[in-house]
Amino acid sequence: MTSTVVNGGISFWYADDGLPLARDPLPGDATADVVIVGGGYTGLWTAYYLKKGDPSLRVVVLEQRFCGYGASGRNGGWLYNGIAGRDRYAERYGHDAAVRLQKAMNDTVAEVVRVAEEEGIDAAVHRGGVLEVARTPAQLARLRAFHEHELSYGETDRLLFGARETAERIRIADAVGSAWTPHGARVHPVRLVKGLAAAVEALGVTVHESTPVTEVRPGQAVTPYGTVRAPYVLRCTEGFTASLKGQRRTWLPMNSSMIATEPLTEAQWERIGWAGCETLGDMAHAYMYAQRTADGRIALGGRGMPYRFGSRTDNDGSTGPATVEALRGILVDFFPTLAGVRVEHAWSGVLGVPRDWCATVTLDRATGLGWAGGYVGSGVATANLAGRTLRDLVRSDAGRSGRTELTDLPWVGHKVRKWEPEPLRWLGVHGMYATYRSADRRERASRSTAPSRLARLADRVAGRH
Ligand SMILES: Cc1cc2nc3c(=O)[nH]c(=O)nc-3n(C[C@H](O)[C@H](O)[C@H](O)COP(=O)(O)OP(=O)(O)OC[C@H]3O[C@@H](n4cnc5c(N)ncnc54)[C@H](O)[C@@H]3O)c2cc1C
Repeated sequence: MTSTVVNGGISFWYADDGLPLARDPLPGDATADVVIVGGGYTGLWTAYYLKKGDPSLRVVVLEQRFCGYGASGRNGGWLYNGIAGRDRYAERYGHDAAVRLQKAMNDTVAEVVRVAEEEGIDAAVHRGGVLEVARTPAQLARLRAFHEHELSYGETDRLLFGARETAERIRIADAVGSAWTPHGARVHPVRLVKGLAAAVEALGVTVHESTPVTEVRPGQAVTPYGTVRAPYVLRCTEGFTASLKGQRRTWLPMNSSMIATEPLTEAQWERIGWAGCETLGDMAHAYMYAQRTADGRIALGGRGMPYRFGSRTDNDGSTGPATVEALRGILVDFFPTLAGVRVEHAWSGVLGVPRDWCATVTLDRATGLGWAGGYVGSGVATANLAGRTLRDLVRSDAGRSGRTELTDLPWVGHKVRKWEPEPLRWLGVHGMYATYRSADRRERASRSTAPSRLARLADRVAGRH
């Protein structure tokens, strides 16, 4: 076992790029046209598009710590076209509506890259697509079914690879096949969020940091330093939503944890391959995700302690030793030649999970309250689509435009019931992840192509399917 150099410190990405300079807190009561609660990708993209579309609009962002403190400054840097809940939206609103949503997500990847370039944000973008590997017969069966399923949503540019073609791209122990889509890019999450915050400020948006909002009411965002009054109050707090008054059971704060290795040597990279820098995932039920960083490390994540009792969030990303060891175990299991490599950083963050696992964006016309989130771990691109959609919803409500292609997407205005009270919430989530891990072990041991029934049971209990 090799020791981890830094644990927590918000994330490796901040250790790499530095913490931002603090912006001033709210000095007292204020008014605005739109007040946005939360300075992550969702809040900042919303502010960006609102102000870009209408420079006279007074937009205020209130952030409890600093912009990018949450998942937007801690994620795996998969900028990709996945959106939580698409299949549910297909069931409910029809296949065509879900195809529109998928196409909007495909375009969103390109949109983020476009704006980053236009605004001069160096987010270490590499458009290598997304590679998802199968390492057991059951995973391979799931991969093929997944590939066919994605084709049915119009993603005709995706490819399926056998074991040999997979190894030509990246050498992963026991890989039997993989699927690749071009609709993905690797990014440096913190450089993206810092650049975005700077771009938003340069446009004239007022950003107050160290300003926790304690309550969101129609027309008001309440903080210990004063209240910001505005006809539109947009809640962009994702995994932290439970800490707001009245929102404890809205979205469950789910933890995800990551490690980053020391930079690998040329010789190590030669053994692994991965020259295309695709974002990398697998088909396990308790899946992993990884990227080859711009400075030649592997940053790899998975579920650590999935959920804390009472919807508590973590402490600046500190991560339990068992989780760090589990992630290091995955790293070495994938790449046995890295057995001696040093893990330099470990951290965690929270993402928001709605009861039906469907991402949503909403503006309630009666109250002027809006929100977006519930992205369940695929929010890097989705937050951009949410920001543009919130802009359109606000503009249309204010009579500045009509309905748009975005406001007609099926995830707009979706309502879902709340999570169960404790201890059911805690028991349910922990049970689900224990079951996924056990399903993975069984699939690995049996070498059968049949998916474990355990995993399907866990999905049903969790409300995923
Ligand atoms: C470890 C990890 C890895 C991930 N990897 C990926 C990935 O590779 N690809 C992908 O697509 N998605 C990934 N995700 C998910 C993705 O990062 C999120 O979905 C996305 O960043 C959400 O952005 P957001 O702005 O909605 O939320 P956040 O980034 O969490 O921002 C919310 C902000 O609101 C602030 N806030 C909260 N409460 C208050 C309050 N009361 N008052 C004022 N401010 C408040 C917080 O401080 C925070 O800055 C990952 C998430 C985690 C945790």
